[in-house]
Amino acid sequence: MIRRALSQCVLSLVNTDAFSSVLRSLEGSDTQRNLLRVLTYHRVDRPEEHPDLYYGVHSATPEQFELQLEFLSRRCAFVSLDDVIESIQGGRPLPPRAVLFTFDDAYQGFDDHAWPLLKRYRAPVVMFVPTGFPDQPTLGFWWDQVYHAITTTQQPALDIGEGRWMLDTSVNKKIAAQRTMTLIKSLPHGQAMALVRSISDQLGVSSACHNVISWRRLEVLAAEGVTMGAHTHSHPLLNRLPLDAAKKEVIRSRRELQERLNAPIRSFAFPAGDCSNELAEMLRKEKFELAFTTRRGINNLRNCDPLRLKRINVGGRSTPNVLRLQMLAYAKHLLR
Ligand SMILES: [Zn+2]
Repeated sequence: MIRRALSQCVLSLVNTDAFSSVLRSLEGSDTQRNLLRVLTYHRVDRPEEHPDLYYGVHSATPEQFELQLEFLSRRCAFVSLDDVIESIQGGRPLPPRAVLFTFDDAYQGFDDHAWPLLKRYRAPVVMFVPTGFPDQPTLGFWWDQVYHAITTTQQPALDIGEGRWMLDTSVNKKIAAQRTMTLIKSLPHGQAMALVRSISDQLGVSSACHNVISWRRLEVLAAEGVTMGAHTHSHPLLNRLPLDAAKKEVIRSRRELQERLNAPIRSFAFPAGDCSNELAEMLRKEKFELAFTTRRGINNLRNCDPLRLKRINVGGRSTPNVLRLQMLAYAKHLLR
């Protein structure tokens, strides 16, 4: 509670004009080389056009994304996945204020809105694709399905095990959706997916909420310069699977991407950032060169584990000044 209040306080201070000047001078002295900031995006689109999709993975509107690109292009150096790998392997050090853009899950908004802007600002990008979803219109991500079922149902309540969540107001529906998603993430994968199906059945809402780029377009994007990375086949939380099943998910997604795109796949992003020593070791043995978690932070390429890179998530609270602050080497303890 105290941390949340403190965070709110810091946020309102950060978004003032006076703080912009403080940031400008801090950015001027933030010149250390080989520090990598990795930004994580999911959806760049207009949320009112996709009321069925979970708002929690909405990163920015196209207008907000362009604003971010505009100010980042003036203050940072955009780098590619190959630049990062070369630097880690002892090649050219990264420039000061290096930034890598990453997009998880291959949502359609990347193709419609984000990629044209990234091209205009000459920003390299890595897209992490869960390979079981493209061209599967009856298949959506579980978080979108649960959110859609809970927010559109006519049922007055949702019963899960011992718990009962009232669905009589939009606020109660959002609380129920949030709590249900937390519960689903805590379960073994098979049980979690069975619960997702039973929620849809109980609430009488079965929309797939499919919003993923097609293979044909992924091939075009790859040819135009988007670097693709593996992100499993069915997007399970890997720590909720036995290690051999997790390995099959990882290997299958890399193989499917390599076959479809006819290009080597050098990187991986853990679904929901879910990592462990065993998983990182498995990726090392399978010769992945970089892997990305969702742990927040900046990576010092001289002493980081390339298979557990930290990232900075971009979401609803990511105003330009918040992003600028999070990307300063000095500010890693603020805005948790
Ligand atoms: Zn994902």
